[in-house]
Amino acid sequence: MPTVPGTTRPDDGRQRPASPALIDRFGRVATDLRVSLTDRCNLRCTYCMPADGLDWLAGPELLTDGELTRLIELAVTQLGVTNVRFTGGEPLLRRGLIDIVAAVSTMDPRPRISMTTNGIGLALRADALVDAGLDRVNVSLDTLRPDRFATITRRDRLAHVLAGLAAARDAGLLPVKVNAVLLRGINDDEAVELLRYCVDNGYQLRFIEQMPLDPQHGWRRDELVTADEILATLRTGFDLAPSETPRGSAPAERWLVDGGPAEVGVIGSVTRPFCEDCDRTRLTADGQLRNCLFSQVETDLRGPLRGGADDAELAERWRLGMWTKLAGHQINEAGFAQPIRPMSAIGG
Ligand code: SAM
Repeated sequence: MPTVPGTTRPDDGRQRPASPALIDRFGRVATDLRVSLTDRCNLRCTYCMPADGLDWLAGPELLTDGELTRLIELAVTQLGVTNVRFTGGEPLLRRGLIDIVAAVSTMDPRPRISMTTNGIGLALRADALVDAGLDRVNVSLDTLRPDRFATITRRDRLAHVLAGLAAARDAGLLPVKVNAVLLRGINDDEAVELLRYCVDNGYQLRFIEQMPLDPQHGWRRDELVTADEILATLRTGFDLAPSETPRGSAPAERWLVDGGPAEVGVIGSVTRPFCEDCDRTRLTADGQLRNCLFSQVETDLRGPLRGGADDAELAERWRLGMWTKLAGHQINEAGFAQPIRPMSAIGG
């Protein structure tokens, strides 16, 4: 159990001020809920999953659509959550996705609803997702070259991702954001090309520093393509000026491209951590609350939910689970240990 800051006393939550919000010991308030809909994915990105996949969660372990929407409604109506982002694994693989989005869009207050996806199959479902109430998407795209795409993802699906992106834009899932991870010696020479493509197509590109969240434990600091390096490379092709839009709790530092209005973001999770402004709370597909991507502990919501807990009890568990969030992710501290769950099972 974490200690009360400044003491060695275990923090059992008694210090927590009476507040319905998801506050923590450092004064942060979580309003952005990331919900993993499945741990499965139809790609096998080398930095995210082994070629053979992982031991997937068994069906009964997964929250049902009804259990998921009950917890999301609790977060929205009682815990101050204003943004709900669906992720995974690959959220488009969740059979009940459209119904889940539709249910969340009728909640009062209505949260802003977004989804992080690899884009495969999005072309077929973008209109239905808009009709259900989805507001916007982030699509992951690390390369524009089919052979590299096949190397990185171990699947030959680049054309499907590009079609998904275009369909999202045409359906009005705006702004369409693109997430790219640069890998040393694999696609780190493609930053300028990716930004040109996104600017030309009206997508907002964000580069994400690779984090130590892979199940193979293959992350190496000396191979990291850093935010500084990404910005230096981008400056070989574009004029970048800091965006004047306030950053708030957004993880991306944003830059105006060639005077704007196009922007590019760089998320320096490792070299420029933004933990002190973090407003995230995370729910895994099997109903575990995580207060940080890197947390070593989880709060079980599924057990009490299936055991008949009422909303007040679940809400209090959620609040206490967030209260003990650590000050930072500790990647840069001696003794850092990766969380047991990899990124794909937490929800990126
Ligand atoms: N399947 C969806 C997708 O591809 O966007 C959602 C889940 S995926 C885990 C979410 C994002 O996490 C992707 O943009 C992916 O590139 C990124 N990601 C995965 N592992 C990562 C890591 N170790 N460091 C940084 N980003 C990572």
